[in-house]
Amino acid sequence: MTDHPRDACGVVGIYGVDGAASLIALSLHALQHRGQESAGVVTSCDGVFHCHKGMGLVSAVFARGEAENLPGAIGIGHVRYSTAGGSNLVNAQPLVGRYIHGQAALAHNGTLIAAKRLTYTLGATGAFFQTDADSEIFLHQLAQEQASTEDEIGQVLTRVGPAFSLVLLFADRLIAARDPYGFRPLVLGKLRDGYVAASESCAFDQIGAAFLREIEPGEMVICSSGACRSFFFCPPGHPHARCLLELIYFARPDSLVFGEMPHLFRQRSGRALAAEHPAEADIVVAIPDSGMSAAMGYAEAAGLPLERGLIRNHYVGRSFIAPGQEARAAAVRMKHNVVREVVRGKRVVLVDDSLIRGTTTDALGRELRNAGAREVHLRIACPPTRHPCVYGVNFPRREELLAHNRSLEEIRSHLHMDSLGYLSLEGITGLFSESSSFCTACWSGRYPILDEEIPL
Ligand code: SF4
Repeated sequence: MTDHPRDACGVVGIYGVDGAASLIALSLHALQHRGQESAGVVTSCDGVFHCHKGMGLVSAVFARGEAENLPGAIGIGHVRYSTAGGSNLVNAQPLVGRYIHGQAALAHNGTLIAAKRLTYTLGATGAFFQTDADSEIFLHQLAQEQASTEDEIGQVLTRVGPAFSLVLLFADRLIAARDPYGFRPLVLGKLRDGYVAASESCAFDQIGAAFLREIEPGEMVICSSGACRSFFFCPPGHPHARCLLELIYFARPDSLVFGEMPHLFRQRSGRALAAEHPAEADIVVAIPDSGMSAAMGYAEAAGLPLERGLIRNHYVGRSFIAPGQEARAAAVRMKHNVVREVVRGKRVVLVDDSLIRGTTTDALGRELRNAGAREVHLRIACPPTRHPCVYGVNFPRREELLAHNRSLEEIRSHLHMDSLGYLSLEGITGLFSESSSFCTACWSGRYPILDEEIPL
């Protein structure tokens, strides 16, 4: 994806392992792709909370060994990309509060669809918000309901509603929970005599923890008194809506999320794309790095060589949208360099995982032609993105989505491609045995739940 939407954070919790803060900080490095705006760790030691947070990358926030100064064998951590609330230190997580049952800290991934109504309801009863981030609602709701037992906390989570995957820290207890739809991922692992919960399993690999299983939608895992137990706070048979874009783009290719390894899933989607949209071509080129796995699958299924026709510069920061065609082309060249010797005289199938604004894809097509490619055939390993996300992914406005109100031919012509093919919704959901358990709202417009459906 050349112009990505941003994900809304990564979370980690560790229970029962000495030096928890250093391990949490280490595992946050592996989740850095989920948020680069701020990072933080909170631990609990002898009933006292210790916290360090800062703006920027994990490597900057914990550059001077700050994690080693946070004592305790239990703690939580967070990397943030803001989808609700400003990008500033006040909103950096974990959030820490004190209520009738002592201190509590929270790290949250997702966007609360009922945030506006809940903020109003809580504010009307006297809540004084410290941040403008929706995540703070959990702490106020806990305080207002004086929730402490598993049942009580389950009721709070139900009242707040999706979308969340979160870790909650109390003085001697760690709780990891996912909303009943399961929009965002959360997995459970084992480290020495303790336990780890994280957004993705790549966080476990970083610290030598073993993957145990996915935490189920509507499940709360409670680690206390040296053990972990599980509790469901939603009725059995509740519909699930895991975010399909996690598998298509967000999650690291080497993670395990939703029972799948994204790299292998993306390869499968590339094979399905080749079957749906073959092209008369000489080579397959991935838009790096996001399109690589799908391009491998496409090339394999099409019987075409996969070539490195584009090289990505990893040292360029966040892409910016420069006005004008020339400036945009220069911006694209900063991030992606075309390998002339590879593409000259070739008919190229250009593969990416998804297409959101399309701001740089047309410039990439031009660059390939300028470098001597005879034809450029764009293939996208998911359906046209026509609707924004309300569950924790920061999308551009509906009107800024390339596929909004455009036909396929209009998109092709807008991007100056020789041909264009998107993997169909049936094609991508057909890759699962249980396709109904995924959210597809940004393509289908069928939102699994909206704000007014949450009873407050
Ligand atoms: S709308 Fe799209 S990005 Fe948002 S949760 Fe659903 S599949 Fe994921």
